[in-house]
Amino acid sequence: MQNIVEIWKQVLDIIKPEIPIQVSFTTWIETIIPIEFNNYEFIIKVPYSYNKEMVEQRYADLIKNAIKFVTGSDVELKILINSDYTEVQDKYRFKQTNLNPSYTFDSFVIGKSNQLAHATSLALAEGRTEGCNPLFLYGGVGLGKTHLMHAIGNHVLKYDMNKNILYVSSEQFTNEYINSLKTNTNERFREKYRTVDILMIDDIQFISDKEATQEEFFHTFNELYLNDKIIIITADRHPKDLPTFMERLKTRFAQGLSVDINPPDYETRVAILKKKAFQYSMEIPEDVYEYIAKNIKSNIRELEGAVKKLMIQHKLMRKEITVNLAKESLSDMINEKKQKITPELIKGNVEKYFSLREDDLFKDTRSQNIAYPRQIAMYLIKNYTNLSLKQIGEFFGGKDHSTVISGINKIESKLDSDPTLEKTIEDLLKDIKN
Ligand code: ADP
Ligand code: MG
Repeated sequence: MQNIVEIWKQVLDIIKPEIPIQVSFTTWIETIIPIEFNNYEFIIKVPYSYNKEMVEQRYADLIKNAIKFVTGSDVELKILINSDYTEVQDKYRFKQTNLNPSYTFDSFVIGKSNQLAHATSLALAEGRTEGCNPLFLYGGVGLGKTHLMHAIGNHVLKYDMNKNILYVSSEQFTNEYINSLKTNTNERFREKYRTVDILMIDDIQFISDKEATQEEFFHTFNELYLNDKIIIITADRHPKDLPTFMERLKTRFAQGLSVDINPPDYETRVAILKKKAFQYSMEIPEDVYEYIAKNIKSNIRELEGAVKKLMIQHKLMRKEITVNLAKESLSDMINEKKQKITPELIKGNVEKYFSLREDDLFKDTRSQNIAYPRQIAMYLIKNYTNLSLKQIGEFFGGKDHSTVISGINKIESKLDSDPTLEKTIEDLLKDIKN
């Protein structure tokens, strides 16, 4: 059975998209602490009695459904208030490590793009450290660097609970360091970082512009290295390409092994999708895998997000998983076309749609047969490109800001009451996107 922290994380993943108002989510859901899960009940704790009322009235069903979906058990939801149960809460807190238990080697799909990174990480985790310590993993966002780090930590802890493993983001390292200076606790900071068996620092590029932190890290590094401790670092690029990094530090990184991790190829993307679907006990048709893998290429977190979205549509809204559903529900992730929409493209299509001649929309005239299509074009440019109102004005030959606003407003208010206009906009969008 998965542990409660892991279950709760998945529950949150399911609930989050169902609560569109971010502040509601933050106030009522994120303040919940899962306490215990047994055969009869899932116990959660909230800060105040009005949180309890709110959760009971508005979110209990949603939470119960999500728990049922994740665990397969149909249990009661029991809500405690902070003061009821501090003891259990402490126990819970004590058990937490900062390693994500679901980032393991088992859940990591191996492909050409990450083979070497995986093999070296596993070697380190199994104590075959020669030649790969310190390990420097580098590559783009969402490709599995953090996952591999945690996998190393989880693997080591599985065989030896007493190993002292410290995983931090480089921001956290920086903040703790600065804080230790402010509060005169630098000794304690050093003690903490220089006595670990394994130190993992994630996304080290963030200390590029922080000289003092680099200096401190340099000494931490040396101390650990001299004592044969393991050091793992990740970054978004090769150490030699880290700008404004101390040369001494780069030399240190070069003493170990640098391994890159690349975007997954098509087959690996499909394999990852299948693994995620399996984890969520979902059955997804082959052509849907193909559709997603063809369209989401550079980021594994997005592949994962796509499966989660489909899962929610399927399990909570009871929709059948088809390519069309994928197209619909993933359109915000798969928006290559949307990004290519330019003001010129919109202008051209609007002119064509209203049977105008080329560049009619640029004409300085208020006649309705031109002004109205121009307002529509402005509306579309505002909503489907990144142009500011000022730039839209400039695009149409130096119209001022207020003309643009009033044009867009007109279309917006008309849209509420005029189904023909709605249809016009829909048709235009279809033309533009094709
Ligand atoms: P990075 O640290 O490189 O930005 P992460 O390690 O955070 O990326 O990975 C992003 C998400 O993709 C995580 O949820 C992770 O579990 C998942 N992921 C990355 N690589 C793989 C893989 N090879 N197999 C399975 N899941 C992966
Ligand atoms: Mg990361």
